[in-house]
Parts: sequence; C-alpha cells; structure tokens
Amino acid sequence: MSRTDSQGALRIALLGCGTVGSSVARRLLDGPEDFAQRIGRPIELVGIAVRDVDKARPGIPTELLTTDAEGLVADADLVVELMGGLEPARALILRAIGHGASVVTANKQLLGADGPSLYEAASAAGVDLQYEAAVAAAIPLIRPMRESLAGDHVRRVMGIVNGTTNFILDKMSRTGADLQDVLAEAQELGYAEADPTADVEGHDAQAKAAILASLAFHSRVGTDDVTCEGISQITSDDIRAVRKMGCELKLLAICERVVGSDGNPAVSARVHPTIIPRSHPLATVREAFNAVFVETELAGDLMFYGQGAGGDPTASAVLGDLVQAARHRVLGGRGAGESAYAALPILPLSDIRTRYAIRLGVKDEPGVLAFVATVFGESGISIESMLQGIRRSDDGLAPLTISTHEATEQQVNDAVARLRDLNSVGTVASVLRMEGIE
Ligand code: NAP
Repeated sequence: MSRTDSQGALRIALLGCGTVGSSVARRLLDGPEDFAQRIGRPIELVGIAVRDVDKARPGIPTELLTTDAEGLVADADLVVELMGGLEPARALILRAIGHGASVVTANKQLLGADGPSLYEAASAAGVDLQYEAAVAAAIPLIRPMRESLAGDHVRRVMGIVNGTTNFILDKMSRTGADLQDVLAEAQELGYAEADPTADVEGHDAQAKAAILASLAFHSRVGTDDVTCEGISQITSDDIRAVRKMGCELKLLAICERVVGSDGNPAVSARVHPTIIPRSHPLATVREAFNAVFVETELAGDLMFYGQGAGGDPTASAVLGDLVQAARHRVLGGRGAGESAYAALPILPLSDIRTRYAIRLGVKDEPGVLAFVATVFGESGISIESMLQGIRRSDDGLAPLTISTHEATEQQVNDAVARLRDLNSVGTVASVLRMEGIE
C-alpha cells in the first residue's frame, strides 16, 4: 500500500530552512487546520533538512531539524526543495520522485540547467513537479502560462524578473547616481547579495528566461541557450542619454517566437539592458518589483506584476504549489507536465534582430555625421535618428546618439568595429538595444 492510500496526514518534508524555507515552515506550523480544509486531508511537516541544526531559527522547533536529507525524502508524500543550487538538490529531488513523492521547488538554477531530466522523471513516476516560485517569486505566472494560456499562442514574453537590477536601474534613473553607489545601497538594504554577480551580470534572469521560453513556446530552452548581458557596464551617462530619449533602461528577459534565417520558426531568448519608452507598462515598474508582459494571439497583451523575491512573497507561491500537489494526492490526477512538442530551434545570437541606440563621442569637425552615416549604410543598417549633444566631455568629444531601425546583432557588431576605426569617432561609449518603440 502506498502512503497516499492511507487516510493519515500527508507527510511533508522540507529541504532548506533559509529565507524562503523558514517562512514556508512557519506557515505550515501556524495554520495546519486551514491547510487541511483546503487540501481535504491533514498535513504534517515531518522534518526540515539543513546544513547546521544548531543555527538559531525563531519559531522552528529544533526537533524537526535534521542533516539527513536523504532519509527525510525517503519517507514523505510531498517534498519541498528550498535549498537552491544544483547538488544535492537535484539528487534529492530525483530520490523523492523515485520514492513516489510529489515535489515543489523554487530552484530556477536547477530547472534552467537540467529541468527536462526532472520533468521526465516526474512524468515517468506519475507525480507532480511544481515550480511557481522559480520565476518572479510571488507573481502567479507559471500556472497561468501552463494552464490558463494552454489554448492560446504566446508570441512574446518580456519581463523584469530580477528585483536587484531593477532597484539599481530605477535608482540610477531617479537620482543620476553611479551604479557602484546604488549597488552599495542595495546591499545595505538587503536587496543585493554580498556577492551580487548572479544578479548584476544577469545570470539569475537568464535561468528564468530559459524557464519562461520553454513554457511559452513548448520547446526545451536551457539557461545556456539564453544570450545574457548584465548591467555592470551601465554608466550614469547611459542613463542620462536614455532619459533624454523619453525612455527608461531596464534589464529585460525577452523570449520571442521568431522566423529564422531558413524561414522556419525559432525561439529567441535573451537577457540584456533594454531601452523602453516611458509609455510602456514595464517602464513604470519601480524599485525591486518584478513584472512580466506576455503578448498572445487571442488574449492580447497581459501584464503580471508583484514582488519577485523575499521570504514571505516566495513562500506564497511555494505554498500554492504545495496545496495543489497535495490536492492531487488526495483527489487523484496530476498538474500539467512538460510540454516540449514544438521543439523549436534556438535562434543564433548573430541572427537576433532588434533596434539599437549607439552612443558615440565624436570629434567636432565637418563631415563627421556623413562618415558615421556611411558606416551604418554600408553595414546594411537603416538609421532612425541621430541626436547630437552640445556638451563636450573632457577630451573635447561631442556626444552623438544614433538610433537604428531593426538590425541583426552581426550587422551592428560589424558597424561598431568600423566606427572604432574612424578617425572622427573618439569613442563608442555604449551599444544598447531598444524594444517597444514605435
Ligand atoms: P537560503 O536562505 O540560502 O537557504 C538555503 C537553505 O538550504 C538553508 O537553510 C541551508 O541550511 C539549506 N541547505 C543548503 N545546502 C544544503 C545542504 N547541502 N544540505 C542541507 N541543507 C542545505 O536560500 P533561499 O533564499 O531561501 O532560497 C531557496 C530557494 O528559493 C533557491 O532555489 C532560490 O533560488 C529560490 N528563491 C529564493 C527567493 C528569495 O527571495 N530568497 C525568491 C525566489 C526563489 P543552513 O540554514 O543550515 O545553512
């Protein structure tokens, strides 16, 4: 007889008791009656795996803590993985599935790197693998994409999925401060880690983009398939130039269904700082909030907005998954599994088409604009506008911002290489991509 055939409490094992795990544990311990009503059967938190059982954890009974994670998952109906990282999280999830347990995880890093092998294992075992909190934490996004939009066609997903970088760019835009100063403030306020690399270099958003692209386009997209550029090179001059254009700069995850150079459909997935007009809904997303804009064939445009991090907000999504997976154990059935039937190829970086804003420092001499325009023309790029500033930098160069119509990454790289060789161009200060500008 399997454990779920019995009418006893559903046995829940928690892996991790950090920022998210401790919030989940406290909710499970505080309100078991509510959970029992919502699920249709009582639940019991049977143990919490941690590295250090002696660490102070207010509100968490020490007798629940264990370092024996393997033993814990072997005796559970539902396993909630909130350790993070690749191992031992992956091995423990597979072990739990192997024992017939359903799994809830918030581990974007693991799902982005190796989701398909976990989805396949869950499908073969007939159990749930739920991961609402892995992208944009509290915001219901995974389930709407997997279920509510299952009959529609998603064209594009464009989102602010990293709160730390949104806090930094928003603050830079509002105060004119430099990135390093704002980053230090974000660290003081707890919005950024002591080692901010995963956020600032875009790797956190890259894993989330892989999960979103896989769901949106019914294809397998891994973290390594997502082109990624972070915000570490963004300067206050960049932000000033973007604001002059009537725009904001955001770190966006952009997942699109596109037509490849062979004429067949493909997936483009990328993360990079992006100029968007102030009128775009994503431009209004302030501080550390997240928002995801989904463009579909039938539903039109949808916007999902809310808190993308934090113990309690993330616990909300984890507990929602837990209740759903628990209901399936009680009533039968399973949540949606992986859908990768379309198997679209990934568009190579060189073929990605978008619009660009290229900021130059040029010598103040006759014919400069014509020289620059010729480079763009010969690279096959059509210029939309040229904005020349009067403020000269210390080296006597005048600022010039060129906005282009759509061009490929390859064309822009060629043009930038040639601009660097031009005598009249002193510096190529930045190359930024633009979206949502009519
Ligand atoms: P965290 O604060 O670092 O907590 C990790 C927990 O896992 C700690 O309790 C730690 O034990 C335990 N742990 C780590 N490695 C272990 C091992 N080998 N054996 C046993 N226990 C181990 O992490 P978190 O911020 O809660 O994040 C958890 C997951 O949620 C991650 O996948 C993260 O990406 C995801 N997530 C987090 C947020 C957020 O806002 N924090 C938002 C969305 C998604 P000790 O306490 O003994 O060190």
